[in-house]
Amino acid sequence: MTNQPTIFDKIINKEIPAEIAFENDTVLAFKDINPQAPIHVLFIPKIRISTINDIKDDQAELTGQLFLAARDYAKQIGEDENGYRLVMNCNQNGGQEVYHIHLHFLAGRQMLWPPG
Ligand code: AMP
Repeated sequence: MTNQPTIFDKIINKEIPAEIAFENDTVLAFKDINPQAPIHVLFIPKIRISTINDIKDDQAELTGQLFLAARDYAKQIGEDENGYRLVMNCNQNGGQEVYHIHLHFLAGRQMLWPPG
């Protein structure tokens, strides 16, 4: 799939605004513009990786940091015990729209299964 810059590069570079929820050297998290739950935050690596298929073996730690950041965020906002859902879509059938990997963090309501 494409390896072009996306709107998330602009958010990383602070060229367009986003409601930042978490940031460190390698990970940025911001509120989804079209939330699907009372709390919907996207965790992204600051370097562009287009899809899960493009993750290199030596980026295992970087991608793992998305989960650790989400874990810490859940605790920080007090949703860790209630629970939450993490989702990463891949390519067309997975429902991916933005080709810069992002971990959806959804919380604040009962999630359904299957997700549709
Ligand atoms: P996906 O379908 O997994 O690629 O998800 C892309 C997500 O990015 C969607 O939930 C969009 O609502 C969200 N999104 C797109 N543009 C922005 C933006 N400028 N700021 C925040 N979220 C965005």
